[in-house]
Amino acid sequence: MLHTTLGFTQPGKQQGFLQVPYSHNLGGWANVMIPITTIANGQGPTVLVLGGNHGDEYQGQIAAMKLARQLTPDMLTGRIILIPSLNFPAARAATRLSPLDGMNMNRAFPGEPEGCVTRQVAHFLTTVLFPLSDVVIDMHSGGRSMEFEPCSHMHLVPDKDQRRKMLAAMLAWGTDFSFLYADIAGTGLLPVEAENQGKLVVTTELGGGECIPASVHRIAQDGLRNVLIHVGLLRGVVQTRESLGKPPAILTQALNREDYLLAPESGIFEICVDLGTAVVKGDIVGYIHHLERPDRDPEPIVARSSGFLITIRAPCLTQQGDCVAVIAKQVSLAEIESA
Ligand SMILES: [Zn+2]
Repeated sequence: MLHTTLGFTQPGKQQGFLQVPYSHNLGGWANVMIPITTIANGQGPTVLVLGGNHGDEYQGQIAAMKLARQLTPDMLTGRIILIPSLNFPAARAATRLSPLDGMNMNRAFPGEPEGCVTRQVAHFLTTVLFPLSDVVIDMHSGGRSMEFEPCSHMHLVPDKDQRRKMLAAMLAWGTDFSFLYADIAGTGLLPVEAENQGKLVVTTELGGGECIPASVHRIAQDGLRNVLIHVGLLRGVVQTRESLGKPPAILTQALNREDYLLAPESGIFEICVDLGTAVVKGDIVGYIHHLERPDRDPEPIVARSSGFLITIRAPCLTQQGDCVAVIAKQVSLAEIESA
C-alpha cells in the first residue's frame, strides 16, 4: 500500500515522498520513492501540478521542479501539491512507460490499491489527491515519439460549466495554439479520471523530443505560472496574449478519427509540411519510404481533413499503425462552448 511522508492538511512547505512498495531481487523490502512537494497558506484553491506522467517528457518535469524550489507559502493563497516526475521509474530510465511494470501511467487510471507500482500511484491520485484538488494540471509533451506545436489542450467535457472553466484555463497558458483532442489510443487516462471527478483539468503538449529549445521551456514555465495566477492560487497579475502584444490563440480541434493519420505500412517517414502549417484535405503531408525496396515509389500520407498540422511523429523509422500526423481544424470559442 502506498505511503506518503507528507501531511496534506498542514500549512507551510513540505518536501517528501510517495513511497510505493516494490519488492525485487536485490531489494526485498524496497520502496519506489517519488518526490512530492506541498505548500499551503490560508484559504484558496488546491492545485495539483503533475509532470512526467510519461517519463521521457521533460518540459513539465523541469517546470514543476523549478516551481517546487522557488515557491514559498507567502507567494500563494491556498495549496499546491507538486509531483514533478509522476512516473518516476520511467523518468529515471528516460522512457515513456515504467520499466518496473511496463505500464503507461496515462492508461492506468483509476488504478488499484495493491496493483503494480504504476497502478498504485494512479489509485492514490484517484482516491486521495484528486478529491483534495480543485485544479489538476498534467503537463505533457511529445516525448521521444511525437513533436507537437507547443499547445495547451483539453477534452470536450460534457458539463458546460466545467468546460467553460477548462477553456479559460487552457487559454491562460498563452500558447499560440490550443487544441481539443480525442482519445484514439485506449482508456484509463489521468485527465479523464480527474474530469469525471468534476475537476478543472489543464493539460499540455509542449513540443517534444529531448532537444528542447529554450523558447519551449519558457512556454512551459511562464504558462504554468500564469495558469496558477489565473486559478487564484499564486499572487500576481495574469498576462494575456493581448497584454503581451500577441494575436489571439488559434483554437483547434481534432475530434474525428480521420484527423489522426496512421502509417499504412512500415518504413522511413518523411514529413513534407512544417508544424503549425495549414493543410487542405487531399494534400500530401508526408511519405513512407520503403526501406527494403527503395526502387518502389514511397507511400504518400494524405490529409483526410483540413486544418493545421498540430503534431507529427518524431522518429523517422515507422511501423505500420504508428500515428504520423494529426490535423486539427480551427474552431471558434463560441462553437466549443455550444458543442
Ligand atoms: Zn505524455
